[in-house]
Amino acid sequence: MKICVYPGSFDPVSNGHLNIIERIAQSFDEVYVLISLNPNKKYTFTDEERLYMMKKVTSHLKNVHCELSEKLMINYAKEKNAKIIIRGLRNISDYDDEMTRFQFNRTINENIDTFFLFPTMNNLFLSSSAIKELIIFDADVSEYLPKKILEFAVKIIKERK
Ligand code: ADP
Repeated sequence: MKICVYPGSFDPVSNGHLNIIERIAQSFDEVYVLISLNPNKKYTFTDEERLYMMKKVTSHLKNVHCELSEKLMINYAKEKNAKIIIRGLRNISDYDDEMTRFQFNRTINENIDTFFLFPTMNNLFLSSSAIKELIIFDADVSEYLPKKILEFAVKIIKERK
């Protein structure tokens, strides 16, 4: 059984994230999307809202499971029997962060590896923070956010700006 974990803030989930999830759902038997709970991080959406949006946009993928967890990601992966962590790699600054994160995770559990996926061309410059900024300036973000959550996410971002 091939099991992986795809962790992130998903504040909110974008088409870039969804594209990665759809691709890994084809290669793994089970995919656990871990929505991180980091008390030191300030999110726009509540934990429950981030989970709600992720569940909604992945409802067509039967082998994708979405969960909130406070556990250290590598321990969460072990608990799920996952040998692989998935990360997206957009640019050099992602690369620097991911290199450090990869080494850190290896020191905790060397049996769990990380696979990196490049975004497709149309998702290359997409980040949750850029989408939020565009919404605050009333730009059209329908190309960047999954249709199923577009209205919900735009409304909340405008309310909380
Ligand atoms: P963000 O950087 O947008 O706040 P997250 O912290 O939620 O994203 O990221 C979770 C994972 O998704 C990370 O591995 C990140 O590199 C990846 N990711 C983020 N945006 C994209 C994108 N547009 N295309 C592919 N992967 C992405």
